[in-house]
Amino acid sequence: MLRARSETPGCNNVLHFNNAGASLLPAPVVDAVNAHFRLEAEMGGYEAAEAAKTTVQGFYAAAAQLIGCSPEEIAYQESATRAWDMVFYALQFQPGDRVLTAKAEYASNYIAFLQIAKKTGAVIEVIPDDPYGQISLSALESRIDAKVKLIAITHVPTQGGLVNPAQAVGRVARDAGVFYLLDATQSVGQMPIDVGELYCDALCTTGRKYLRGPRGTGFLYVKQSRIEELEPPFLDLHAATWTGLDRVHIRNDAARFETWERNYSNMLGLKTAMEYASSWGLETIWARIRLLSATLRAKLSSIPKVQIRDLGEEQCGIVTFTVNGLDSEGIVQALRKKQINVSLSRVEYARLDFEARGLESVVRASVHYYNTEEEIERFCQEIEELA
Ligand SMILES: *Cc1c(COP(=O)(O)O)cnc(C)c1O
Repeated sequence: MLRARSETPGCNNVLHFNNAGASLLPAPVVDAVNAHFRLEAEMGGYEAAEAAKTTVQGFYAAAAQLIGCSPEEIAYQESATRAWDMVFYALQFQPGDRVLTAKAEYASNYIAFLQIAKKTGAVIEVIPDDPYGQISLSALESRIDAKVKLIAITHVPTQGGLVNPAQAVGRVARDAGVFYLLDATQSVGQMPIDVGELYCDALCTTGRKYLRGPRGTGFLYVKQSRIEELEPPFLDLHAATWTGLDRVHIRNDAARFETWERNYSNMLGLKTAMEYASSWGLETIWARIRLLSATLRAKLSSIPKVQIRDLGEEQCGIVTFTVNGLDSEGIVQALRKKQINVSLSRVEYARLDFEARGLESVVRASVHYYNTEEEIERFCQEIEELA
């Protein structure tokens, strides 16, 4: 723990419980970004990319190792949203095609569903929750028929401690032969993820959250056997080759979902962040996060007027709560003045879930392995004073 903190310069300035927003960067990530940025300044951007070619190529192996796939199944992306979009908008929907999703779905994904439903006549269906607030597997199974084109769910939602049963959903999708797109933006870097065990066809994640990488980064996984059936919504001279005046050849690895231009410094930063996470071990990280978040939930719930809002049988590092009689936004701002970072989750971020629970917003305190029991203690004291 001491090493994790000494390698996280931001720990000296803030009590950071906003890891589901953007984690504090570890020093090796900052160094990797700065080193390449400096190299670009010193020798030229193209020349720096050439000089760092082998290291850059290692990005794919680092991501592949992290989630248990092959490097050819990884595409570098600028965000989790764009990664998700590249697959979703590649699917060809016909009128009456059914898309099955769940209550926890992230706003950007649902906005895309609504757009495509309007354009194509595809139908979006929200599977009800089980008694724990997770997607109901029996309801999901009962809704499967030949018209189901896609199952797309969020593994860990932006707005709470819930961990959806992504593997069990994957089994249903596999047995039905339905494409399964998993939004793992909050779970990659927080817990061990193995795309084979999850049976997903595609998965997206971001760099800045639990992976502790730079902002403006992410990656996409697409299963090898699915790549060639997906024609990306955009192509460029990296994703495809202009082979004749009226001919184009689209590459057959996941890089077909990439663009040629990218921020190499940040890409190398994310590569370093993934290697750094793997060096701690995802099992170790996950155990520590579960311990800290369970402690935080228990301490908060003993404070009068505080209500924990997390759903799910198994819960993760995202702890959400409200305080009776206090405005959640006010709490976030009051904490910020004391160098305590949390964030506000609003109804617009996950409307299906918030509306079903009659909530407008919640305070989100998300812990990572480098946080401490002392920070939890101090945090709860501040909340107690506010309450
Ligand atoms: C943050 C978040 C996203 C979006 O990630 P970006 O990198 O900002 O595009 C998608 N899904 C979930 C569940 C998220 O929490």
